[in-house]
Amino acid sequence: MNCEEIREVLIDYLNNDLDPEEMALVQSHLQSCPGCAREFQILKEMIVCCQEPIEYRECYIEEFVYEVRTRIARQKRMRTVFRYLPIALVPIGLGLFLFFHRPKPSPVPVYLDSETRVMIDSLSDQEFNTLLDRIRQVSLSEE
Ligand SMILES: [Zn+2]
Repeated sequence: MNCEEIREVLIDYLNNDLDPEEMALVQSHLQSCPGCAREFQILKEMIVCCQEPIEYRECYIEEFVYEVRTRIARQKRMRTVFRYLPIALVPIGLGLFLFFHRPKPSPVPVYLDSETRVMIDSLSDQEFNTLLDRIRQVSLSEE
């Protein structure tokens, strides 16, 4: 099993939902792969926070909100850079910015399927903000 396959079954592994054979495979992979071990750790902490077994649907929403937050953070960074950069320096600044601020690997597992990713990426800013408002409303009504 490669890392991608392992990460797909981490939730099942946590819930003891795999065959004994697969359980052993995942376990030995986690012992030898720091990346997957870290994802596993984060996933476990997330579940302890909820104090109930995580389900695919809940997990999916968590990751979706995470993706949305990442995008907001990215927009904020862009705005800050442009606000303080004199106009003449914009092209140079932008080059430097893109060079030094390449996206870092995310510390939280993101399992969005490619269809959802494409959907999020293709939204206009206005559509994205509308979506964001809906998510906020949903989170508020859940509290
Ligand atoms: Zn791995």
